[in-house]
Amino acid sequence: MGAPGWLPGENGHTFMDSIFNPETQHQDVGAKVVAALERLTHLLRHLVWNEAKAHGLSPIQVHVLISLLVHEPARCRISQLAREFQVTQPTVSDAVASLVAKGLVVKRPFPADRRAALLELTPAGRKLAEHLAEWGHVLKTHVDALPAEMRHELMIGLMELIASLQRAGLIEVARMCLTCRFFQPNRFPSRETPHYCLLIERPLAVTHLRLDCPEQEPAA
Ligand code: SF4
Repeated sequence: MGAPGWLPGENGHTFMDSIFNPETQHQDVGAKVVAALERLTHLLRHLVWNEAKAHGLSPIQVHVLISLLVHEPARCRISQLAREFQVTQPTVSDAVASLVAKGLVVKRPFPADRRAALLELTPAGRKLAEHLAEWGHVLKTHVDALPAEMRHELMIGLMELIASLQRAGLIEVARMCLTCRFFQPNRFPSRETPHYCLLIERPLAVTHLRLDCPEQEPAA
């Protein structure tokens, strides 16, 4: 049994140090950011749950359908999806089996690996996935209502945070410019397009930075 909240736990922290303790949180910007992200996570989970329930799906089935809609075929494999969602392959495998049984997904042979299968949406699966892909718009409307400068800072801040978590091994897949070997940050510091992509040989403005680029290759 763990130590009571006011006594140090195994990591030496007490409830008084907790980011969820309103007193601690009040004095610590980092704690407020984490608590805010947690609140947004609840909302996002709630929105996906609502969509899933309305269509007799589980949340992971919703994510599988949307991923198959937006990703190139080579990424539409159970192993890839499991890495992306940070869940086990059997979890994705069960979700896919259910989607196949519902006539929303089909499995095709994967030429490069006979043990793997490529997943493809059926026409009914595509139609549903296109509808489901709208679920994030509620939140986007509110993000769009923020002043442009704040929106850009929020985007960069979140990208930097994801990059840091990826470097620490806590996020497995993130195909962002910030962690790409082709990315040259601030090559032209005084320009409106300060960054540069060596692959497409073009300068990039902050708004051009990508969160999910199919050509991304992780920096060493
Ligand atoms: S290849 Fe894609 S992710 Fe990499 S720097 Fe260029 S645009 Fe960004």
